[in-house]
Amino acid sequence: MCSINNYEYYKNHKICVRCGQEDAERNHTMCLECIMKSREYSLNYARKHKKEIQEKSRVRAKKRYYQLKEQGICTSCGKRVSRNNKVLCNQCSARINYRKRQEYLLNVYATKRIYEIRV
Ligand SMILES: [Zn+2]
Ligand SMILES: [Zn+2]
Repeated sequence: MCSINNYEYYKNHKICVRCGQEDAERNHTMCLECIMKSREYSLNYARKHKKEIQEKSRVRAKKRYYQLKEQGICTSCGKRVSRNNKVLCNQCSARINYRKRQEYLLNVYATKRIYEIRV
């Protein structure tokens, strides 16, 4: 059992908060072995809960989208100011437009071929 008090105590004394035995690594709250273990654990966790994590990150992305939109910042790069009332900055909108155009053209070619086959 690791209570919050223990956590603070170990942290302040530079002792690993996970095992409470070894000295913590520099700039970490855990010893090297525990860092490795917890890394492995989180990888396993990610593998097991893939769907959940995806859903969570989807929700987070959505939230981020609305926050950025509200602040008038590009929702794609999250860095540059978006164009007047748009959700994208100049660079991102140019990039996305280009990609959309490519997709559109591919789509046109694809449907054209199907059309020709039908005839
Ligand atoms: Zn440890
Ligand atoms: Zn952008």
